[in-house]
Amino acid sequence: MKQEIYIADKKNLSDVLNKPKLNKDDIIYLLNLTDEKDISELIRKADSVRKEYCGDEVHLRGIIEFSNYCEQDCLYCGLRKSNHQLERYRISPDEIIETARKISSAGIKTVVLQSGEDFYYKKEVVTNIIRNIKAACDVAITLSLGERNFDEYYEWKSAGADRYLLKHETANEKLYSALHSHQKLEERLTHLKYLKSIGFQAGSGNIIGLPGQTIEDIADDILLCKEFDCDMCSFSPFIPSPETPMKSIPPADLKLTLKTMAVARIVLKNVHIPATTALSTLSPEGRKLGLTVGANVIMPNFTPDEYKDKYRIYANKKTYDPVKYVEDLKQMIHSMGRKIGTDKGHSLKKNY
Ligand code: SF4
Repeated sequence: MKQEIYIADKKNLSDVLNKPKLNKDDIIYLLNLTDEKDISELIRKADSVRKEYCGDEVHLRGIIEFSNYCEQDCLYCGLRKSNHQLERYRISPDEIIETARKISSAGIKTVVLQSGEDFYYKKEVVTNIIRNIKAACDVAITLSLGERNFDEYYEWKSAGADRYLLKHETANEKLYSALHSHQKLEERLTHLKYLKSIGFQAGSGNIIGLPGQTIEDIADDILLCKEFDCDMCSFSPFIPSPETPMKSIPPADLKLTLKTMAVARIVLKNVHIPATTALSTLSPEGRKLGLTVGANVIMPNFTPDEYKDKYRIYANKKTYDPVKYVEDLKQMIHSMGRKIGTDKGHSLKKNY
């Protein structure tokens, strides 16, 4: 143990940042940086990797949170089925398709369909939603519907869905099992592998600041995204929901969240990384900070107003008028010397 600390202390930051491939020790060393000058150097490197591998474009993805019903009971999530205080809603297929049209009219080229794990929307219903959106709008479709059946994934891919988000949340198997009473990490990874095998652009990622999570665990999260060759990776801060057993756990540390995003960008290079809504909730400057440390995606929320407040994964989630939000985003992005992506912003790993 003593020897490991000695080796870590002896590392030279510039040497580590210029290595072509970082190992787990390097990642832990970078995540543990505390000196402001060192952190600034880390961030500068992450931003230059982002520029080299992803360019200056920021891709917008319009989200529709179409159901807050969930059959799972994840301890950290306000949508968990044991939360009886939450008023539940489901949006009809027609309203989902209409909302997708609004996203497309705002000039956004990706529609993200997100919900809890809600089998009320059967395979055929989701298939029809995908087909109708594809027929009406020139957009890519990302699904974020939790763990569903393999035949459903296959049919939705065949119907035209392009991407699937299924975060692994934590690469620590014991922590995963403690947080998800009905699920196993191994199963989640089997789903991710299958999604990739049938041609989905696949997204994973973690939650930062979970109780009992170590810096080593976060390093493993980044390495797991590398091993799975994910197309999109989200590193979002834990924010407690007052309606869950984790209501008293403090929110994630902002600096650790930003360091994680920066290190992830350096390690994962040409993946899409969002500046998440949770990051904006943690800090009013969250979107801008995220874009500075390596992010190249922002996901404006187009869920119709009457439902927005009820998709309460965590507390104080930001709500806004999406059209005005997109206008503000455009100004902010231009002021940073970046530009809005004008195409569908597919994976940078293959030609789609
Ligand atoms: S994290 Fe996802 S699967 Fe878990 S309770 Fe929340 S919505 Fe459901």
